[in-house]
Amino acid sequence: MIPENPYLLLTPGPLSTSRTVRAAMNRDWCTWDSDYNSLVQKIRARLVELSQGGSAYTSVLMQGSGTFSVEAVLWTCLKPDSTLLVISNGAYGKRMARIASQMGANLRVLTFPEGSQPDPKVVEKTLQEHPEISHLGMVHCETTTGMLNRYAPIADLASKWEKIFILDAMSSFGGIPLDVRSPKIDFLISSANKCIQGVPGFGFVLADRTRLQGCEGNSKSHSLDLVDQWKTMEENQGKWRFTSPTHTVRAFLQALQELEEEGGVAARYQRYRLNHEILIRGMENAGIRAFLSAEDQSPIITAFHEPENPGFSFEKLYHLLKSEGFVIYPGKVSQAPTFRIGHIGHVFPADIHRLVAAVEKIKFW
Ligand SMILES: *Cc1c(COP(=O)(O)O)cnc(C)c1O
Repeated sequence: MIPENPYLLLTPGPLSTSRTVRAAMNRDWCTWDSDYNSLVQKIRARLVELSQGGSAYTSVLMQGSGTFSVEAVLWTCLKPDSTLLVISNGAYGKRMARIASQMGANLRVLTFPEGSQPDPKVVEKTLQEHPEISHLGMVHCETTTGMLNRYAPIADLASKWEKIFILDAMSSFGGIPLDVRSPKIDFLISSANKCIQGVPGFGFVLADRTRLQGCEGNSKSHSLDLVDQWKTMEENQGKWRFTSPTHTVRAFLQALQELEEEGGVAARYQRYRLNHEILIRGMENAGIRAFLSAEDQSPIITAFHEPENPGFSFEKLYHLLKSEGFVIYPGKVSQAPTFRIGHIGHVFPADIHRLVAAVEKIKFW
């Protein structure tokens, strides 16, 4: 018997999953034969389909949280003579730069304010001035603010200037329609516990097959070597190099089936959008303003300014909402006191209506 959750997670991962996704974990698997490995192959093929990559693209799964897959891409792509340009407007862009810096990679960082879109003109100027740049990395949905970064003009610049384009689409892949071929994304990174609505335990990378092949021998990390992991999965039909997160993988396959039953990425996107719209309207009625302007908002997570009322405290809001069955998220914006509410996962418009009603009942502002 799989119990109901005691509360709804309005956080961008781990997030609330369906009872059937959780139920799918309820057995053990041997990893030595095709019973299990064929599930891995199904997942890999389905991810390529979702990315619209066709035969030019492949997918690799990697143990760990999403950050491990970001790090795996950087270890695998970058050579001693490569230079990575990270375009950052939030904590996750900063994290990509931090990983590259700690690896000792040649790195340039272009930082934009947390509430602003990256400016393609500035990016192009940087590419002109620094011909040594070989790779461009950025975040799609910057989960710090909920900002949906317009990556298309930057990806177009990467193609124009023949740079390799890396997109951290961790919190958007599967929830926002996208085509990896146009504008071209060479490496796209996401993880099990975001918009596909699986449980935590692994990340995955969608890669241009030729680009990935060209990275053989680059990685100085053994466990995060994507080419090595990929070759093992390809040559042994879904075998992982090291212990595979079997329960998480089985749950993920179930989550992919449920994505299809919902009507695919387009339908999920509509649900997330509706969640966001109900939330933002309800919060505005309660006198709480969103951090971003409407054209920058993603349907993934929304950041709100903390009300200036001296009676307000995030702790209090958090605990009151938790007692009503909702878990919200602290802020991560460095310029302003904010808090965040996620609207991805097994969360529906009726849940958001209940949340808004619970917020309206709270009287400390
Ligand atoms: C969730 C997330 C990550 C990965 O975070 P982990 O805690 O390692 O799973 C990376 N980038 C973005 C934009 C994210 O939302």
